[in-house]
Amino acid sequence: MVIIMLGAPGTGKGTVSGMLSNKLNIPQVSTGDIFRKHIKEQTELGKLAESYISKGKLVPDDVTVELVKNRLQDEDVQDGIILDGFPRTIKQAEALDEMLKNMDRKVSMTVNLTTPEDELVERVVNRRICPKCKAVYNLVLNPPEKENICNNCGHELVTRKDDNEETFKGRLNTYFEETKPLVNYYDKQNKLFSAVVSKSINKMGKDVTKDVLDYIKKNHID
Ligand code: ADP
Ligand code: ZN
Repeated sequence: MVIIMLGAPGTGKGTVSGMLSNKLNIPQVSTGDIFRKHIKEQTELGKLAESYISKGKLVPDDVTVELVKNRLQDEDVQDGIILDGFPRTIKQAEALDEMLKNMDRKVSMTVNLTTPEDELVERVVNRRICPKCKAVYNLVLNPPEKENICNNCGHELVTRKDDNEETFKGRLNTYFEETKPLVNYYDKQNKLFSAVVSKSINKMGKDVTKDVLDYIKKNHID
């Protein structure tokens, strides 16, 4: 099974991916997390990625595609993978189709998360993440039990460097220009499942996860 997560920054791709990963027992692979790991370790890739991420721009396609290509060879993702944040451009989507074809695999479904634009910025500036186990919190919607401490592993929570209002604007523009066309790309292939994540209708990550699992079952997705 190959599941793709689509959505603007702040819609909760990471949260839903994590829940799906637990329920379906297949790994979640976040290109954003991989880049952040490289940035922390100050590798060559990390330095390059940081120069784009800090401006709210996408890391170039060739670099990102190469990264995913290598990751797809790993043993642990042969039965299934949740791609959290990849592809993000039509070029990446086409490259992914090609890679999967060569492995006799294909995209199973795309989960497209949508959130009203005015809620997104609020979600992003209030986001806190656990650098150790990657759990995601929101100070307003989903605060940790102990202030600034991860419920799962006890590590101190951090704010992502790009989770500020200014960088967010750039990220949102990038999303509309480069990533949103993928909604149509996958819809045309009948591979799109869209879900609203919004406090205004009380639909949070866990509700959406349930809807996705129901959809997978009903449509015999594999
Ligand atoms: P979010 O969806 O909240 O923006 P991510 O962790 O998915 O967070 O991504 C953080 C940043 O990493 C993006 O703004 C982008 O600069 C970079 N990035 C992640 N995935 C990709 C990708 N597939 N292609 C290019 N850049 C990416
Ligand atoms: Zn943790």
